[in-house]
Amino acid sequence: MTNITIARGDGIGPEIMEATLKILDAAGAKIAIDEIEVGEKVYLNGNSSGIAPEAWETIKRNKIFLKSPITTPQGGGYKSLNVSTRKFLGLYSNVRPCMSLHPFVSTKHPVMDVVIIRENEEDLYAGIEHQQTDEVVQCLKLISRPGCEKIIRYAFEYAKQQNRKKVSCFTKDNIMKQTDGLFHEVFNEIAAEYPEIQNEHFIVDIGAARLADSPEMFDVIVIPNLYGDILSDVAAQIAGSVGLAGSSNIGEECAMFEAIHGSAPNIAGQNIANPSGLLQGAIMMLNHIGQSDVAEKIHNAWLKTIEAGIHTEDIYSPEISRQKVGTLEFAQAVIDHLGQKPSALKPVRYANNAALNLPKYKRKPASLKELDGVDIFIHWHGSDPNELAQNFKQMLGADTELTMITNRGIKVWPDGFKETFCTDHWRCRVKAASGKQMNPSNIIQILQAAMDANLDTIKTENLYKFDGKAAYSLGQGQ
Ligand code: NAD
Repeated sequence: MTNITIARGDGIGPEIMEATLKILDAAGAKIAIDEIEVGEKVYLNGNSSGIAPEAWETIKRNKIFLKSPITTPQGGGYKSLNVSTRKFLGLYSNVRPCMSLHPFVSTKHPVMDVVIIRENEEDLYAGIEHQQTDEVVQCLKLISRPGCEKIIRYAFEYAKQQNRKKVSCFTKDNIMKQTDGLFHEVFNEIAAEYPEIQNEHFIVDIGAARLADSPEMFDVIVIPNLYGDILSDVAAQIAGSVGLAGSSNIGEECAMFEAIHGSAPNIAGQNIANPSGLLQGAIMMLNHIGQSDVAEKIHNAWLKTIEAGIHTEDIYSPEISRQKVGTLEFAQAVIDHLGQKPSALKPVRYANNAALNLPKYKRKPASLKELDGVDIFIHWHGSDPNELAQNFKQMLGADTELTMITNRGIKVWPDGFKETFCTDHWRCRVKAASGKQMNPSNIIQILQAAMDANLDTIKTENLYKFDGKAAYSLGQGQ
């Protein structure tokens, strides 16, 4: 018997949870359930995180969480419970299998069988955003080596366990050479440890286009957080319906399982929602807790039900379907098919699908880190970069020199284009003067001089060399 935590959520959440639990019970899942309340009611009771402290205790104690979708109330001040759960519990890996069920569910891609493994904690989703000037806001994109290693190793171990042949990586490292560059570099390092699995890399724009056009090219895709968020919905939708896909969120200690869709308030309370997404999440949960026999039995009964043309409204088509059913009737049909296997669709076999045990991350020895300069960001209302350069240079002593000014990343001094549109956010790059070495006190002197000169410094970013190699981007046009 495994203790699990469930939350019935909002909108269609309670209906699809009821249907899913009925199927789990009929199939003989050995689970003991603790229920917690999360979502809209909790938010509107004044808890801005949508979950009470006692509920966290239950989730952490049981370690396995099956969650229905929730509604995040509109308006500011409410933190997304989904994002918080993934981050607080360290659920670094989001796994979304997207498989078409041709010819029983209408799809343009009859042979699609893709698993998207999305990094779940980092990237632009760190939620570190600031307004810096009247006209400019920023969001920090943070990518870490342990974050990359964990998710990419997870993808290769997953491919190995599931007998999959290829892992594809999508990044935009032609533009983001440091952040996406690190993800791609770690992908190459880890791929080399798995010679039996093919690997390939796509720039995310063309990769996304190929995925939408020819998903049969792909097997497992490993991808940073933001691109993965978008592309996993695209993949689920083109496979048939977002109502059919489930996902797992895996951490070193805890795991959360859910449907990929939201709380669908437009169809709540009508017994018409498709419970398949949450059921797929529950099947992944059963595999994770070592009850693969039950997972296999339910998955095959579900395939048989789909194949028998017993469909909820979202996938119902008069040409393909035989019977339109409600949420609970669909659940009953799956129960009635327990013990049967599909004949046209391929039955699943879950022989060895338990949770993956990955080695702990090992930190590498520290690199030699040298200060190589500083970028000083200025809020300035002027329009002529030569004037800013003139003012800025007067603040510098003999040890440092101004090497470049950019505006939104584009070099505007020296030798800028007068056509470049400039906003009120300027970056002044300072390096050591010829024959000198940059040190932190140079930065403090510059900041003091900027304050004395009434220049509004909004932030500084140190420039480093790691093991002798410059580890920062050039200005565009530099
Ligand atoms: P949604 O996924 O709830 O609905 C999109 C469309 O798909 C709707 O037309 C809906 O009726 C349909 N749909 C979704 N699930 C279905 C199912 N199981 N059966 C049949 N049809 C289904 O997305 P939305 O409308 O953008 O968001 C509604 C709410 O859900 C929002 O408050 C949002 O914040 C929340 N949300 C929660 C989660 C989560 O808890 N994991 C994820 C996404 C959105």
